[in-house]
Order: sequence, then structure tokens, then C-alpha cells
Amino acid sequence: HAKKDGGNNYKFHDEALEKQNNARLYIENHLHKALEKNEFSLHYQPKIELSTQKIIGVEALIRWENPTLGMVPPDKFIPIAEETGLIIPIGEWVIKKACEQLKLWKAEGILSELTIAVNISIRQFFNPNLVSLIEETINETGIDPFLLDIEITESMTMNVEMATEILKDLKKLGVKISIDDFGTGYSSFNYLKHFPIDYIKIDKSFIKDITIDDQSKNIVNVFFQLAKAIGFRIVAEGVETKEQLDMLKTLNCNEVQGYLFSKPLPEDEFNLFFERFYKP
Ligand code: C2E
Ligand code: MG
Ligand code: MG
Ligand code: MG
Repeated sequence: HAKKDGGNNYKFHDEALEKQNNARLYIENHLHKALEKNEFSLHYQPKIELSTQKIIGVEALIRWENPTLGMVPPDKFIPIAEETGLIIPIGEWVIKKACEQLKLWKAEGILSELTIAVNISIRQFFNPNLVSLIEETINETGIDPFLLDIEITESMTMNVEMATEILKDLKKLGVKISIDDFGTGYSSFNYLKHFPIDYIKIDKSFIKDITIDDQSKNIVNVFFQLAKAIGFRIVAEGVETKEQLDMLKTLNCNEVQGYLFSKPLPEDEFNLFFERFYKP
């Protein structure tokens, strides 16, 4: 009996794996043409400064709408883009689009002081053209470099020497650097002090539990002490409730992002939201 079950299980796993591989290939095939078919867009999630209660920036988050696949979430296609190398042209599109958006907001005269944060994945980070791409884009769009915020993750800092080189080159351009999803990677706290970092973004998995269990709250508290000691500003991501917000205020958090304020919005909806609620 057990033998038969075992056999069925294997078969089940094979089929599941095959289905998964097919789905992946299917996505990959469409992903190859997504740029030329103009299927990507950026959504913008506001970042609120707690001391002023105003929007001080946005995070740009990529969206992919394909006629056959529908809306594909970034968690599904960014890893595939990363493995296939497609992340290089896609990432270039994101950086250019984000800077153009910033230029447009400034030209419209309404949102002139907002920062824009762009997510960079590991292959982009170690691509030798990244710094010159960002430099060219800043020059071409004429944006203030300090309004551009480059979000990297802890995993990219593991090669300390290389990461330090790249980050120093980026800082020479005048841009801001954030460590995204902080607390989920293998960060060596000791090396953090060597990196020219402006912001630490505490991962939403910690924020989710700060009002539920003391352990999570204690861990987040340690992150705050650490950041304060080294001189980073802290952003909390994934803030969904008033209780979480109140807790973060008592911890002296600098900035917050989350559904409590707004989900990521397309350009026109973001403009309306900004006008109505959070004009500085
Ligand atoms: P991330 O950079 O950590 O972005 C935050 C994610 O949390 C976003 O998911 C955002 O929509 C979501 N989020 C914001 N507020 C809340 C909240 O209150 N509750 C919950 N549960 N979630 C919230 P999204 O847009 O699906 O993006 C997922 C990840 O995909 C991003 O995580 C980022 O790592 C990656 N990604 C997105 N856009 C880009 C891009 O342009 N380039 C690269 N390389 N990666 C990107
Ligand atoms: Mg991010
Ligand atoms: Mg990220
Ligand atoms: Mg994050």
C-alpha cells in the first residue's frame, strides 16, 4: 500500500514540476517581447515622513500587463528576468522612466521636491554599466541627483569590496542609497558602517507582527538602535494599521510606506491622491 502511494506521489511531483516549468517558459517567452510591446508601466507608492505627515517621496514599482497573461506581479517575473538577463534592458527602462517621471512632476510645478526610489536587482547592481547609465539618465533628464534613491538589498553587499566600490561610485553622482527588505538577508552588521547608505527599509514581515508579539517589536527596536548608532534614516514598509503606525512613532521611525496610506498607484491616480491629501 505504502509503495503504491509513494509511486503516486512521485508522479504527482513530476507533473507539478512540469506544469511549473511550462508556466515559467510561457512567462519567459512573453517577457522577451514585453519591452518592445510597451507592456510595462510604473506605479508609485507614497513615502510619508512622520515628523511632518507629508509625502516626501515615492517608490517606483514595475507593473507588467500582458494581453494573454493579464497582470503579472513582479515577484513572478523579476526572478525570471534576473536569470535570463532580461533584467538589464528592463532595469534600464525603469531607471529612465522613473527619472522622466520626476522631471515631468517638476515641470508640472506641483511635486517638485519628491524623491523617487528605484529597485535594483543583483545582476543590475553588478553590471559594469550601471553607474554610467544612471549618470547619463540624470544628465539627460536634468533631475536633481539627490532626489533619486537607489534601493538595493543586503544580498548585494556580501561581496564587500565590490559593493563598496559600486556604492562609492553611485554616491559620487549624488544619489541616495537604501537597503531594502532589511533584516531578511544575511547582512553583516559589522560591514554596514563601511557602506555609504542613507536609508534602511525594514522589511514588511517585521512590521506585520510588531503589534502582535513582543519578539518582533524587540527585533525592530534593535534595528532602530543600530540605524541610529550608525546614522541611517529608517523607513518602515508594509504599514497597514493605525496600531502599527503608532508603535513606529514611539520608536522614532523617520518614514513609512504601506497600504494604510496608499497602495502603489498609476501616475494619474497618484497625482490626484497627492493633490487631495498630502500636498506638502
Ligand atoms: P519591494 O521593493 O520590497 O516593494 C514593496 C512591495 O510591498 C511592493 O510589492 C508593494 O506593492 C508591497 N506593499 C506596499 N505596501 C504594502 C502593505 O502595506 N502591505 C503589503 N502586504 N504589501 C505592501 P510589489 O509591487 O508586488 O513588488 C514586489 C517586489 O518586486 C518589490 O519588493 C521589489 O523587490 C520587486 N520590484 C518591483 N518593481 C521592481 C523594479 O522596477 N525593478 C526590480 N529589480 N525589482 C522590482
Ligand atoms: Mg523596494
Ligand atoms: Mg526591493
Ligand atoms: Mg521591500
